[in-house]
Amino acid sequence: MSGHGALREAMVATCRRMNTSGLNQGTSGNLSQRVEGGFLLTPSGMNYETMTPEDLVFMRFDGTHVGARKPSSEWQLHRDLLVARPEVGAVLHTHSMFSTTLACLRRGIPAFHYMVSAAGGTDVRCAEYATFGTPELARHMMKALEGRKACLLANHGLVAAGVDLPAAYKLAVEVETLAAMYLRALQVGEPVILDDAEMARVFEQFRGYGQ
Ligand code: 13P
Ligand code: ZN
Repeated sequence: MSGHGALREAMVATCRRMNTSGLNQGTSGNLSQRVEGGFLLTPSGMNYETMTPEDLVFMRFDGTHVGARKPSSEWQLHRDLLVARPEVGAVLHTHSMFSTTLACLRRGIPAFHYMVSAAGGTDVRCAEYATFGTPELARHMMKALEGRKACLLANHGLVAAGVDLPAAYKLAVEVETLAAMYLRALQVGEPVILDDAEMARVFEQFRGYGQ
């Protein structure tokens, strides 16, 4: 099977970038990209350096798939999010260092910095724990993602969604940076948390931000 050549290439490039940038390591993490009739998903446990565009799996929303490779063990997490959120075009999951460290403490990221708003609300929640690759994990993630585009997974990692792959990647980098800052701030004292009124001003300010 084939099709979506450019998208497949972009997914492979994003996987490699995820590891070379330090956002992920080894065969941890996975990516999905919505396409006509379903989504493309990374194969399970494959080295990103040697993975080819043809190794990506096409999956329908009913969980059936096409391709020689076994899909990511987290296919349910990707499927559930893509089904529930028509505006989401791509989902990225990593075991990035600082988000995962916070997730091991089962702590989310409060509004200690205004950029927390990038994830869609006044915090980045940490989902309840469930074993990797289970429908329970997908369910807990969906709850933590209510009104949000990113969340942490307890004792596991980070999930970020976007309209497309670059947007999901950008958000993952943002959340990871926030997690690093928050952990550092926690080491010195109690970070000051911006209140809801200020975060409302932040969202308003962003409406006119950029080009
Ligand atoms: P896969 O290689 O099956 O995608 O698993 C990696 C992972 O991060 C599981 O949570
Ligand atoms: Zn994982």
